[in-house]
Amino acid sequence: MPRVSRRVSAIAESPTLAVDAKAKALQAAGESVVNFGAGEPDFPTPAHIVEAAVEACRDPRNHRYSPAPGLPELREAVAAKTARDSGYAATAAQVVITNGGKQAVYEVFAALLDPGDEVIVPAPYWVTYPEAIALAGGVAVPVATTVGSGFQVTVEQLEAARTPRTKVLLFVSPSNPTGAVYDRASMEAIGRWADEHGLWVVTDEIYEHLVYGDARFHSMPVVVPSLAERTVIVHGVAKTYAMTGWRVGWMIGPLDVAKAVGNLQSHLTSNVANVSQRAALAALTGDQASVAVMRDAFDRRRRRMVDLLRSVPGAEVCEPLGAFYAFPSFERALGRTIRGRRASSTLELAELVLDEAKVAFVPGEAFGAPGYARLAYALGDDALEEGVTRIAKLLADSD
Ligand code: PMP
Repeated sequence: MPRVSRRVSAIAESPTLAVDAKAKALQAAGESVVNFGAGEPDFPTPAHIVEAAVEACRDPRNHRYSPAPGLPELREAVAAKTARDSGYAATAAQVVITNGGKQAVYEVFAALLDPGDEVIVPAPYWVTYPEAIALAGGVAVPVATTVGSGFQVTVEQLEAARTPRTKVLLFVSPSNPTGAVYDRASMEAIGRWADEHGLWVVTDEIYEHLVYGDARFHSMPVVVPSLAERTVIVHGVAKTYAMTGWRVGWMIGPLDVAKAVGNLQSHLTSNVANVSQRAALAALTGDQASVAVMRDAFDRRRRRMVDLLRSVPGAEVCEPLGAFYAFPSFERALGRTIRGRRASSTLELAELVLDEAKVAFVPGEAFGAPGYARLAYALGDDALEEGVTRIAKLLADSD
């Protein structure tokens, strides 16, 4: 018998966290590393949110267990926020507060999938989805998109991937890692297709507020209301309010699914830390000015990043319209010898660039997209410039 179960040993370490850990270890050893690896805002959490948490610490009510699906006032606030921001009407009973959006992803797939059920997952995809699907006994069916198609799937591609075992379509806009944002018409076509075939849609809205230029965020059950009975939204405060470390997310689904997720969570982790929930409550109900300030900063960095990447030999960039990632193709930079080492995949290229130029990024293999790389531009302007210049110099130094 294996020491570690087959089920858990099949789970790979999160490659994004692994790159981040390696970059941070080099930094701790005194190296000047530019870290494009981390998927988190570099801003501190806005002060009024931190103050609410400090106050919550002093209140003994928060020192105790609270209801597993979340503090009633936070579930209400999520319902109100959803109506305010995306126009989707849900009740507090449909909301479960989770330990980050990540736990919502796990719990939702656990609640929806039976062994062998298939989930269509447009690629490039966030690393956690296939693991969460597999752990729930499901089968992730990736559908590839490329820089050429703006990383957007078409109904024809989805239809080609559909089988009698397909239960769920995973839909993410804006996307991690590509920054792609679907316009309303394409989203509607996809939603109608899912509805027509009786599929569920799990839609990850965590980057709702990080859209730029002419791009607009749309929520799937608002665009295709008839899907609402088979739609589950995954969301959280991490990206909008620079709160990655507080660990507060949520799911919103039909009542039976919300109840099932709440039951699961009651045995898994119980309630999310009350102080964090109080901070999230302040984030959702308080002044929203900091959201726009951070978004504007990301937008400026995004434009700078795209300009810089366009000057990198061998890189091909599609302008990201949301989130805070650039996802260039490095296909044309592969196969060359750089400082005596050959990089035949982006996995090898990422290692080489970290070793030789002290710049960390996540290779596309992690997202089901070999040949690409994810660079998070949630960094100061000088660091962006320095990091991309180092990559450009290194790649120019090849045979
Ligand atoms: N969904 C997407 C697409 C993400 O990129 C992330 C974070 N990287 C999450 C969900 C989960 O975020 P958290 O668990 O920090 O709320």
